[in-house]
Amino acid sequence: MAEVGRIQGLTHDVRAIELRLLEPASISFKAGQFVSFEVPKEGQPRPVTRPYSIASSPEQHERILLVLNLVEGGPGSSYLFGLREGDRTSFKGPAGAFYLRDDETKDLLFVATGTGIAPIWSMILAQLQRQPDRPVTLFWGLRSQRDLYWQDELEALAAAHPHLTVVTTLSRPEPGWQGASGRVTALVEERISSVSNLAVYLCGGSGMIKDVTARINAKGLCPIYREKYYDE
Ligand SMILES: Cc1cc2nc3c(=O)[nH]c(=O)nc-3n(C[C@H](O)[C@H](O)[C@H](O)COP(=O)(O)OP(=O)(O)OC[C@H]3O[C@@H](n4cnc5c(N)ncnc54)[C@H](O)[C@@H]3O)c2cc1C
Repeated sequence: MAEVGRIQGLTHDVRAIELRLLEPASISFKAGQFVSFEVPKEGQPRPVTRPYSIASSPEQHERILLVLNLVEGGPGSSYLFGLREGDRTSFKGPAGAFYLRDDETKDLLFVATGTGIAPIWSMILAQLQRQPDRPVTLFWGLRSQRDLYWQDELEALAAAHPHLTVVTTLSRPEPGWQGASGRVTALVEERISSVSNLAVYLCGGSGMIKDVTARINAKGLCPIYREKYYDE
């Protein structure tokens, strides 16, 4: 059982929801893992299960942060968007095999699209804590300016950690965008020269995961860990 803490609107359709653990009062998880909610689905007698990655640091045990986008009419996201501060909810987990590995000899490449940033945010926080001197690169793909969030936070993290490189790219930028544009796949193609000492973590839709996996494989062999949110 958990109590809904702070709810933050991050964009027109993305929300961050804090859950304070009540019973049990704390949680242990590996950076990258998810929790699952059983939610009612209209027209179905039984609830359906929807997983959501934990975006907060695994060092924080008394509360977790979720980041999700609203899918119109979707039972999982509608349920979570319906929660108000102070409500109670329950979930199962943590679970999942997409978590930050212990191998401390590799440089890390994280690639996310949309709310696929959630587990990767947790992993980056954990990685910077345990090995601040090892290179970490994040490529994050969003659609347009109205979909941007956490840019100041990422800028502050990168300013505090010289080995962290962050590139947010917009696939459909409105005029005036000064940053990278195009898909994350193109960034991987253009900016990753060698994969020989790399571990790669991908999270988002199936299209990105398939395309980035192919680009990485074309450059050589390295471990690739993947979390597919949905089929495109
Ligand atoms: C391990 C795991 C962790 C996940 N963690 C997160 C998370 O941290 N944040 C988050 O926003 N989502 C996450 N998802 C997706 C989430 O579980 C739901 O699938 C999503 O919220 C849609 O569920 P729904 O019941 O609202 O919609 P449904 O009725 O199940 O409709 C889903 C359909 O909406 C489309 N869609 C658009 N955007 C998304 C999206 N972001 N995810 C899934 N489908 C989408 C797809 O075409 C999909 O077929 C995760 C999925 C997995 C497998």
